[in-house]
Amino acid sequence: MPIRLEIVTVERQVYAEDVDIVVAPGIDGELGILPRHAPLLTVLRPGEIMVRQDGEESIIAVSGGFLEVLGDRVIVLADTAERADEIDIERAEEALKRAEERVSSAVSDVDLERALASIRRSQARIKVARRRRPRRATPPA
Ligand code: ATP
Repeated sequence: MPIRLEIVTVERQVYAEDVDIVVAPGIDGELGILPRHAPLLTVLRPGEIMVRQDGEESIIAVSGGFLEVLGDRVIVLADTAERADEIDIERAEEALKRAEERVSSAVSDVDLERALASIRRSQARIKVARRRRPRRATPPA
């Protein structure tokens, strides 16, 4: 019996599939969700959601949000979310560099907190993008 995982942001639906397992970055630590998991509502940290579907893993970067488990449905309401293949790694690296500069020049706690949050988002994107399956340079023989 699979789990129905839906990941949405205010902008769009990022992911909607039947999967075998979901591993998500809960605020209190990594959260593994299998079918028949108890109902749960938790806050997410910036990081990656890993899913396995027929032995194949996929990864989605999230910047935070909420995760709810209810019956065999897992709903993620994410601040932002991107599937590995959607991530522009150069953009994330540039955002990371800008945020690091903002950390050193921050004049208020709010500036600092925003810059640190941006660093965490960018790092999660970079990590997820680096783990996506390499594209084959030549077609298989
Ligand atoms: P940037 O400074 O590059 O905009 P950011 O961390 O400020 O980065 P967010 O505000 O978190 O960006 O996201 C804005 C929108 O852009 C969201 O829809 C998010 O999914 C998308 N997004 C942000 N960074 C990337 C990326 N590197 N690749 C693909 N989509 C991205």
